[in-house]
Amino acid sequence: MMQLKSGFAACALALTCACAPVMPTSAEAEVTTVFDLQGHRGARGLRPENTLAGFAWTLELGVRTLELDCGLTRDGVVVVSHDSSLNPDITRDSSGKFLEAAGPPLHTLTFAELQQYDVGRIRPGSDYAARFPEQQPVDGQRIPRLADVYALVRESGNREVRFNIETKLDPLQPELTASPEAFVKALVEVVREARMETRTTIQSFDWRTLALVRRLAPEIVTVALTDQQPGEDTMEIGKPGASPWLGGLDVDDYEGSVPKTVKAIGAKVWSPHALDLDERLIAEAHALGLAVVPWTVNDPKDMERVLAVGVDGLISDRPDLLRSLLQSKGIAVPSPTPMQ
Ligand code: MG
Repeated sequence: MMQLKSGFAACALALTCACAPVMPTSAEAEVTTVFDLQGHRGARGLRPENTLAGFAWTLELGVRTLELDCGLTRDGVVVVSHDSSLNPDITRDSSGKFLEAAGPPLHTLTFAELQQYDVGRIRPGSDYAARFPEQQPVDGQRIPRLADVYALVRESGNREVRFNIETKLDPLQPELTASPEAFVKALVEVVREARMETRTTIQSFDWRTLALVRRLAPEIVTVALTDQQPGEDTMEIGKPGASPWLGGLDVDDYEGSVPKTVKAIGAKVWSPHALDLDERLIAEAHALGLAVVPWTVNDPKDMERVLAVGVDGLISDRPDLLRSLLQSKGIAVPSPTPMQ
């Protein structure tokens, strides 16, 4: 195997194995040697999340990967949204008023109904606004279709940026979303229709998704999201029985090893909470051929710490700060894409 910058080697292994069983083409080989700079929901710290305006801004900045979240409408349209129900912190109705409470689940609305809502601004004075004081509103933004995001990128002429698409499913609240089967089938159709299989990864905390993608679309690389922080643990190490998040796997059948369990579900990339990581775990993941791309780090001092343990990429609401930090270390970053 080629000698790559330390920390990037496992990424190379993982992605070339997935896309090119025989000889990687030059494009695929190039993909694998670049640090995976991912803009979270576009660039949530600076532009409205999961909107076309946000993704356009992020392309213009220059990232390796657009990270985004998906849901399915009642009429079967794959839309880009983090929340399974309309989020009152970012959603205004057709009269321009912010919703007073969580709105209906997306999967109970048609795409046409969803288009009434404006998601281009955070509710002033909310805790959410306080978390992202530098976000510039772009009024009039609607929840886009995933197909619209692919079209935006295609029209921009950018032939390299990748898409890391999260399925928003909750095994504990199945009533809020479509079934995993219907959701994954619709998602795979959109990816294939756009011919973006090799530029797309599908990620989820709900590993039922990952097993279904492997079965329906083995050409698409899957990413296992994990969270072991108190109160939001999806792994349940040392607890009797399997965690409902892991698609039937029990981490305790894999010696309580998160990387081994990620490998067992067939994912090529492990995306842990950044605070769940240490050098020993990264070494274990790399030895298993997994790339490690944690979420979501926004402070440059924290970014420094995470880079120092040898990750292969990083997901950030502030891809601008991460990009500058990588440049300051002489790590290659993608070119900006001029947008109309
Ligand atoms: Mg996400």
